[in-house]
Amino acid sequence: MDEVPKKDERRQILGDMPPEDFRRFGYRVIDWIADYLAHPERYPVLSQVKPGDILSHLPESAPDQPEDMEAVLQDFEQQILPGITHWNHPAFMAYFGITGSCPGILGELLASGLNVNAMLWRTSPAATELEQRAMDWLRQWVGLPATFEGVVYDTASISSLVAVAAARESVPGLAVREKGLAGSGDASRLRLYASEQAHSSIEKAAILAGIGRQGVRKIGTGADFRMDADALERAIEEDIASGWRPFCVVATVGTTSTTSIDPVPRIAALCARHRIWLHVDAAYGGCAAVLPEMRHVLDGCEEADSLVVNPHKWLFTPLDFSAFYSRKLSVVRQAFSLVPEYLKTPEDNQVRNFMDYGPQLGRRFRALKLWMIMRYFGLEGVRSRLREHIRLARLFASWVDDHPDFERCAPTPFSTICFRARLEKENASIQSQDALNEKLLEHVNATGRFFLSHTRLNGRLVLRMAIGNLRTTEAHVRGCWELLCEQAALIKRTAG
Ligand SMILES: *Cc1c(COP(=O)(O)O)cnc(C)c1O
Repeated sequence: MDEVPKKDERRQILGDMPPEDFRRFGYRVIDWIADYLAHPERYPVLSQVKPGDILSHLPESAPDQPEDMEAVLQDFEQQILPGITHWNHPAFMAYFGITGSCPGILGELLASGLNVNAMLWRTSPAATELEQRAMDWLRQWVGLPATFEGVVYDTASISSLVAVAAARESVPGLAVREKGLAGSGDASRLRLYASEQAHSSIEKAAILAGIGRQGVRKIGTGADFRMDADALERAIEEDIASGWRPFCVVATVGTTSTTSIDPVPRIAALCARHRIWLHVDAAYGGCAAVLPEMRHVLDGCEEADSLVVNPHKWLFTPLDFSAFYSRKLSVVRQAFSLVPEYLKTPEDNQVRNFMDYGPQLGRRFRALKLWMIMRYFGLEGVRSRLREHIRLARLFASWVDDHPDFERCAPTPFSTICFRARLEKENASIQSQDALNEKLLEHVNATGRFFLSHTRLNGRLVLRMAIGNLRTTEAHVRGCWELLCEQAALIKRTAG
């Protein structure tokens, strides 16, 4: 006795959520996000769950029958939220604050509503042309010359991988693209240089590009953690003399541990002399160049072959958005373009097809959110917010400098401070200093009120505070400082 399903039941069997339900739940979700962003401090910044807690509450298999969205949203709050570390929390000051903004969220929402694939110009002309335009706006904001053209990728790791692949492509007579590394003669002797403070993504890019870890030469840094350009010069000359083929240097503007800035003008001159591809990793630091008083951090970068800056690191853009620029985009295209019949279009030679500029075919419409963010805040709005972060960082650095129980461990050119607590005893061992700081970090993070991270400099444990959230105010920075002072005193007392 087959019955014809009633209208409501049919909806459950075929098609998408009914528009009126989408509207209702859509309003609910936006309301939830608005309340959440109004008070992210209601949650502990660092999730308090133990490994496996979330997993154990999730059924082992997906439902056979449709479930009510009401119930799904309830479970989001009850089962998922406890396992969230709140990057939006104003006291999230670990790593680099990947912080979004409301215009960015609206951009993401519209992009996912449209759900276009920005692989070819014709698969959404606006997605391609807005990407060209928004990337050019950002280029002007950070002050790169008009010879640089942009492509959006998900992360700096991928941007740098693309740069290394392009650098490899530009080596005359190699033909790795056609013959592979094994068939390319001296490809096994390709050498890439980066400072010992460079991001791990550079070495990963070298691994993926077949350069291998042995093909990466790490250059030492001085007391201020900047690449030693003399050492780079010696390394290149030594390598050439012993049969290596230097093909790529990666300079960093704003290293991940200390935010140090490599001497790009000198490095660029060396690269020009030896015809080496210069890639600049300015994932975090490049954002600051939007400020005229910080524009100097990109000095010399106009000579680079490629550069990456991540709006998702410090320009209020929700994850993910990495801006890759190159003066030689044709080389990038040469490295990656491979067009099967079914992706050929009549307008191929009049337009940019972004699928030609990287390993991926499908591409999200990321430009929409950046365009909305740039228009909503405007250049001056972005500048005042960046300035405030830098002011807060300098204020915190001054408290550290003035306190007998603390010391700063690196210069603070941006909004990230490296510091540690110290035992006054002259003969205190490195181990006991490290133990003190490890405990201090644990205590501060366990409160759920603040989240800091650490690094190791010259073998010693160092605490890091990175300020980049739109919601972080002086009160949060001061609160964290007071807690640090209080806890450091406590640990020292109990340690006797
Ligand atoms: C964060 C960071 C990266 C990696 O960025 P992703 O976008 O997460 O891949 C690379 N380089 C530097 C200097 C960074 O600070």
